[in-house]
Amino acid sequence: MKLNMTRRNLLKASAVSVAAGSMASFSGLASAHNHGGKHKVVIVGGGIAGATAAKSLKRLDPKMDVTLIEAGADYHTCFMSNEVINGDRDIKTIRFTLDGLKKQGINVVIDEVTGIDAKGKKVSTKGGKSFGYDRCIVAPGVALNYGAIQGYSAEVAKTIPHAWKAGEQTAILRDQLAAMKDGGTYVLVCPPNPFRCPPGPYERASLVAKYLKDNKPKSKVIMLDPKGAFSKKGLFEDAWRRHYGYEGPNAMIEWHGNDGVVSVDPKTKTVTTASGKKVKADVLNIIPPQTAGKIAQIAGLTNDAGWCPIQGKTFESSIHKDIYVVGDAAVADPLPKSGYAANSEAKVTAVAVYASLTGKAMIEPSWVNTCYSIVAHDEAISVAAVYAYEGDKIISVPNSGGLTPGGDGFNARDRKREVQYAYSWFNNIVADTFK
Ligand SMILES: Cc1cc2nc3c(=O)[nH]c(=O)nc-3n(C[C@H](O)[C@H](O)[C@H](O)COP(=O)(O)OP(=O)(O)OC[C@H]3O[C@@H](n4cnc5c(N)ncnc54)[C@H](O)[C@@H]3O)c2cc1C
Repeated sequence: MKLNMTRRNLLKASAVSVAAGSMASFSGLASAHNHGGKHKVVIVGGGIAGATAAKSLKRLDPKMDVTLIEAGADYHTCFMSNEVINGDRDIKTIRFTLDGLKKQGINVVIDEVTGIDAKGKKVSTKGGKSFGYDRCIVAPGVALNYGAIQGYSAEVAKTIPHAWKAGEQTAILRDQLAAMKDGGTYVLVCPPNPFRCPPGPYERASLVAKYLKDNKPKSKVIMLDPKGAFSKKGLFEDAWRRHYGYEGPNAMIEWHGNDGVVSVDPKTKTVTTASGKKVKADVLNIIPPQTAGKIAQIAGLTNDAGWCPIQGKTFESSIHKDIYVVGDAAVADPLPKSGYAANSEAKVTAVAVYASLTGKAMIEPSWVNTCYSIVAHDEAISVAAVYAYEGDKIISVPNSGGLTPGGDGFNARDRKREVQYAYSWFNNIVADTFK
């Protein structure tokens, strides 16, 4: 699947829908939204979804006034951060800036958005700036709900990391794992659904075990999970059995489902589960429950569960008009909360925003996702799907994707190739998003 949707293709897609739609409504809408050819779009959050949306809008209309406001000057991708944690990759290889987007005429502002005035159509920042908009795209990723685990907090996370937002946290966890004694216990606290990157915790356990097997073979990884099932479970468990003695007497990986962690004693690095089990760690990695990024909550874009409801065809907020929410923050099931999905959503939403500003009809959207997980030396697995909009909802197109074959379909050569596909996917998506 080609990641890069060219401007010509985007326009062609819009043009087809316009031809199928009503030309009368097209011209009427165009005059209502025309500001002398300069439409203003403000994007909140310059991660995968926000940066992709900014690039896509500029491709659709180079004259558009696109402002991208991002809180941090450096962005570290979460994807491949598990390889940083186990020492297979240098952290520099997952660090990116928005400089490439500046060169494309996007107004990049490094500042934190503190308010979105949906009525007045204005975005305000911590630095005291205010930006008016015709359309706003909100892409803040996730917020971590530390308070859901008694004893855990942003402060405690400095020594008991989550590493679920990459960068400093990734480095803390990497250093703790490197310093752990042979015979140590790495405890991974898994989050409840929904959360960013459904296979992510299980890839992390695999890559930590890969490191331990090579370097500290008396050690183990214990996962404590409130869920009874997880993404690619059969494939992960098969790999754990073959590589890490899973379910055997000397298992290097243990997974304990249906028993989430409710509290932590940071001093002793001991967690307590819902059933009352206490587990002491040498390295403790707590991934807390998640909601949409804080600014989405401040702006009143979230539902009772803390996520942003959207209209599936365009990703316009169901709560506030002319504000669109893309990426992890949106309720977009069955699309997963993944970087690939965020990139794909942002492209479709750029067309939706462009269409609403120019009066063109919206295309029939389609999205794509593939998630690779590296599980051992020369072995990766993946899940892929194409999504469409049908009967007022997003659906996973039947037979459009699937899982890496397991069981009788297992093929070591293909698994090795999947590792190369994973690296190739990484190179492509970061180029597509940031360059
Ligand atoms: C360990 C791990 C592994 C992963 N592996 C994969 C993988 O292999 N494949 C895959 O597809 N996905 C993977 N993911 C998931 C992927 O990283 C996320 O789904 C993706 O980053 C979502 O993009 P986003 O733009 O919604 O959020 P983000 O990428 O988090 O971007 C949000 C941005 O908004 C900014 N922001 C937030 N609030 C404000 C504010 N108020 N003002 C200004 N800026 C703000 C933040 O600084 C951030 O840069 C992984 C995730 C993890 C944790």
